[in-house]
Amino acid sequence: MQSTKFPEKGLQAQAVLEALEQMKAEDLPWKTGKVMAYVYATDPEAKELAEAAYIKYFTENGLDPSSFPSLLHLEKQVTGMVAALLGGGSEATGNCTSGGTESVILAVKTARDYARVHRPEITEPEIIIPSTAHPCFHKAGHYLNVKVVSVEVDPQTFRVDAKAMEQAITANTILMVGSAPSYAHGVIDPIEEIAAIAKQHQILCHVDSCVGGMYLPFAKMLGYDIPNFDLSVDGVTSISCDLHKFGYVPKGCSTIIYKNKELRQHQIYTCSNWPGYTIVNPTVLSSKTGGPMAAAWAMFIHYGKEGYKNAVQDCQNATDQLIKAIAAIPELEVLGQPEMSLVAFKSVDEGISIFELAEAVNQKGWYLQVQLASPTSPEAIHVTISHFNAPHIPALIEVIKDSLQELKQDKSPNDEMLMGLDSSMIGLLLEQFTPDMLDNVEALLGIESSNGLPDNMVLINNLLNKLNAEQRNMLLTAFVNRMFSPSSKQV
Ligand SMILES: *Cc1c(COP(=O)(O)O)cnc(C)c1O
Repeated sequence: MQSTKFPEKGLQAQAVLEALEQMKAEDLPWKTGKVMAYVYATDPEAKELAEAAYIKYFTENGLDPSSFPSLLHLEKQVTGMVAALLGGGSEATGNCTSGGTESVILAVKTARDYARVHRPEITEPEIIIPSTAHPCFHKAGHYLNVKVVSVEVDPQTFRVDAKAMEQAITANTILMVGSAPSYAHGVIDPIEEIAAIAKQHQILCHVDSCVGGMYLPFAKMLGYDIPNFDLSVDGVTSISCDLHKFGYVPKGCSTIIYKNKELRQHQIYTCSNWPGYTIVNPTVLSSKTGGPMAAAWAMFIHYGKEGYKNAVQDCQNATDQLIKAIAAIPELEVLGQPEMSLVAFKSVDEGISIFELAEAVNQKGWYLQVQLASPTSPEAIHVTISHFNAPHIPALIEVIKDSLQELKQDKSPNDEMLMGLDSSMIGLLLEQFTPDMLDNVEALLGIESSNGLPDNMVLINNLLNKLNAEQRNMLLTAFVNRMFSPSSKQV
């Protein structure tokens, strides 16, 4: 995008909107239903309703619920409905947040501040998470100065072993975490066991149900065999549930629910230590639009349990189709046994790179997300099936098969590019990496492109895949820092 000078004179509204529409030209074409990540959409009528409700509350400010009591009412209704779905008892209470990351940051902050009161001897608090837990726990630890202890999961099931988590407990442990499910593999950690251990050691226990919270309860109602994972499990003290994923609410909406208000008290930040208005913030944001909460309320009331059950049923059917289709392709294998519509699969054929397969499919107008290898999980393709893209799964299966055949027949450009990639050389280079070496690394790999974003992701994914986490972080930080800077090449 061209950087724009601040205009001297304004432009007509219509022209402004047209300019915005044009900017979207190179974005993922999610409206085709061929985008299998990032966008959670449902039927157009419900989407329109949610957007209208969002706009209705766009200007009202959630900063002060006493000025906008309808926002307080909406928030209590939305969190109340979520709490009831997720096994919360009559004492359960929570808040709406801007997203899963904020919900998790708050859960970690609450645990930290709860410990400051109830276990003041702890000066260096620690939380224990499965290695498959979402990075927002590491981010929370980073922001809040809490140590994050990651326990490797089983390389077959991708579930954490609760006993291994127990062994990681120290005198400083303040919180244990399980995912229901993990994003990467769609499998649910043994929440009952983790929560029992946490309770026995008098440690709080958070369930990250950001992606599953608006899906699993309905799958259970439909008769699917879903293990107990929510606030009804003895020992679970908080749960996070995103509404902007399988709640089909526009982005900017998640929830964090606690067992009771004695826990939530530690989430609230108050400051009357300045001359302006008094700050009492239950969540991270201060001024905030009421839009997402109004949209969530509208979706819940419009869909009801029936609407969400129908959506989950369609996703489950499409997930079954995909899993069966991959099982029938000898070169591919699903990772673990997904418990909802999040499916990761790897290549089991040495001649087929999963990154090349993703690229081949994506070049045909689809979008498949890739996952880099980690100590217990191989590089893979990840498919998120939501209500809107579920009908396109049969077509996706055909495109995957066609692309595999092409890759088997045609051993051309990407392969040669791979040969040039000497990971030890790159590793050596990165040992003394400074951000201004980024251009050199790119030139070395021959991945410079005119618009600042690579045309072909295979080589980049291969490079990242071979680096260790620290090297990946260094390179990615430098890349993104440059991408957002004025001197960046045009995107
Ligand atoms: C998406 C996700 C998050 C983070 O949510 P954001 O809304 O992207 O901040 C956390 N945990 C899990 C399991 C998720 O899938």
